[in-house]
Amino acid sequence: MGEPRILILGAGPAGGATAIGLRRLGYDVEVVSDWRRFDAVEGVSQRVLEGLRHAGLGSALAQAAVPARRRVYWNGTRQQLNQEFLLDRRLFDSALRDDVRRAGVQVIEGRVREVHSSAHAHRVVLDNGRVLSADFLVEARGRQAPLGSNRLRGPECVSLLNLWQGEPGEPVSAVESLDDGWAWMARMADGRCYWQVTLDSGSTRLPSRAQLPGYCADRRRQSALVAELFGAAAWQPSELHARSSTAILAGDCVGSNWVKVGDAAMAVDPLSGNGIFQSLSSALQAPAVVNTLLRHPERVDLARRFHQTRIEQLFLRFARIGRDFYAQEQRVAGHPFWAQRRSWPDELPIHVQADFSQLRVACRPVIREGVIDEAEVVVGPDQPLGIWHVQGVEVAPLVHGLQAGQRLETLLANRPAGEQAMLRAWLTAQGHRG
Ligand code: FAD
Repeated sequence: MGEPRILILGAGPAGGATAIGLRRLGYDVEVVSDWRRFDAVEGVSQRVLEGLRHAGLGSALAQAAVPARRRVYWNGTRQQLNQEFLLDRRLFDSALRDDVRRAGVQVIEGRVREVHSSAHAHRVVLDNGRVLSADFLVEARGRQAPLGSNRLRGPECVSLLNLWQGEPGEPVSAVESLDDGWAWMARMADGRCYWQVTLDSGSTRLPSRAQLPGYCADRRRQSALVAELFGAAAWQPSELHARSSTAILAGDCVGSNWVKVGDAAMAVDPLSGNGIFQSLSSALQAPAVVNTLLRHPERVDLARRFHQTRIEQLFLRFARIGRDFYAQEQRVAGHPFWAQRRSWPDELPIHVQADFSQLRVACRPVIREGVIDEAEVVVGPDQPLGIWHVQGVEVAPLVHGLQAGQRLETLLANRPAGEQAMLRAWLTAQGHRG
């Protein structure tokens, strides 16, 4: 193959981060994307902003992220947290494209209608009739990507996003548990107000589409928190957009000439507040996976295993974080909405108590200089994918040496004092007593 033609479907955070990562590896990349069809605001943590900067998506983002005071009303208690950034998705999505273009990626505006794939090539037909060809396809159309088979699907959720214009004021956000779901709400400095209720779409009897704005307005009327944040302006029916928010893990996330990233691979429950973070996580590893599939055919299985297992582990981690947050709500625990979610996806804890005797050294796929390779890593119940480096230092030789009976002092002897202290602290956190 000459220079492979890589086409990315979708210019959200996952498509954008993958495009820039592939450019950094020297590939020519095209992105084709439609625009999101509704106005939305989402909440992210400082960690997401750092991830976006790291992915090369940070410069314009600075305009889209607004720090806001955050309140949490959960299980009958009120907390004030200072940590949320409100992301105006219209600004954010447009800023993403600027970053992607600046990195030298061609962005085609259009809606993908059909994708025809074979083992060697892909043909993508747009709504305007234009046909694009590619050797490699990155599926990043988010929740709108074709589902394929699901590996795992959480309880069915629908989120009703309501938007109205209120008075300008300090940016705020809040989350509140309800008897049969939960609501997230925010006000931007210019007075745009958002209220989003998430309910079980399987068991909740919702009115017809035309009656939904009135139904949501009635529900807002019943909330003291809504009255506190927005006043009576929130009680009027408003513009509404309904979207599915069921947690979904796709079956196969990678083939020999395609890969899924972001929500197309794994869409998490919005309660975790981590959707953009997980999209970035899968997109940051994807360029090395694509590079390996294109340049090292002998490592196709390794690259596929790497991408698939990481997506699955990430999905399960966020699903369990969501589960534990649902379980904190005790007042209405018996309601089907809460009862279903407090035990899904399983009963396994997010973290297992550290136990050094459970650690072992094993060979696992890792990213080495932009390619998926194999290396000896430290595997344990809490780290099934393995730890290769800690602050740039390989830890497998250390664990191997200790398990073979060598003294810690001997193993650390030739290292600088700062590194020794860091490794000792890491070993202690792994349950090593020595
Ligand atoms: P997307 O951001 O969805 O990007 C996909 C892109 O593909 C879009 O530009 C779309 O227009 C384009 N596209 C789709 N179909 C086509 C097509 N046929 N042709 C061409 N282009 C197409 N995450 C958070 O971090 N914080 C939150 O507060 C939060 N709240 C959420 C609330 C709800 C109700 C939901 C459903 C999700 C929420 N998320 C939140 C999750 C977050 O929106 C996603 O995880 C994230 O945007 C996924 O990024 P992505 O790049 O995979 O997909």
